[in-house]
Amino acid sequence: MQDSNRINPVIYIYEKLRSSFGPQGWWPVYSDGGQGYHPDDFSYPRTETQRIEIAFGAILTQQSSWKNVEKALFALMEESLLDLKAIAEIDIEILQKIIRSSGYFRQKSMRLKDFSCFVLENYGNLESLFSLDTENLRKALLSVKGIGKETADSIILYAAKKPKFVVDAYTFRIFERLGLIEKRDYDAVQELFENGMPEDHEPYNEYHALLVELGKRHCRKRPDCRGCPLKEMCLYNKKA
Ligand code: SF4
Repeated sequence: MQDSNRINPVIYIYEKLRSSFGPQGWWPVYSDGGQGYHPDDFSYPRTETQRIEIAFGAILTQQSSWKNVEKALFALMEESLLDLKAIAEIDIEILQKIIRSSGYFRQKSMRLKDFSCFVLENYGNLESLFSLDTENLRKALLSVKGIGKETADSIILYAAKKPKFVVDAYTFRIFERLGLIEKRDYDAVQELFENGMPEDHEPYNEYHALLVELGKRHCRKRPDCRGCPLKEMCLYNKKA
């Protein structure tokens, strides 16, 4: 086993979590015959529909649990609405009913429409938008109303398969408790990860998913540190 004092903590934590939890297979895709989670298979998304499914999922998951987002995505699938043109054209009140389970459905139906119109008007489809280099793609996504850094980076990493580390509430909580960050600054924390590991979308993909898994299993609001793979290096646990 590697010594946490001698190696880069970003890499050490990644290896620890991966050996404890195994490959996570994010982002789940069900449309076009996708099997949901797909551990160690980074070939998804394979089609435009799957790219749309991930991008819509990233928008719908803002302030909502994934369980509720999945219901909305399946409802969209049933109505053949994993389609930018169909979303751009559908009556907003009908769309609100379809995605109701995701919460904040009025706001989110506007966001799906704004995103779809933006892509259609400027690029035609997601494949063409994703041909931009990572930084220009990020700028383009951030110019869409309602798309913030976490959503843009989720789309870049999981739908466009480009290396951009996604920082979320779990990342902040875990790294704060470990004693590796002092404040919740999105850009600074993203830099910590991106400078600490090779620029490659596969480990970025896996790492974010592993942190979410740790957040769900152990590092909850009230942490359950028993059995946490990071226990021996965690400042919070030492103080407790
Ligand atoms: S030891 Fe406890 S506080 Fe530290 S990362 Fe694990 S669950 Fe979170």
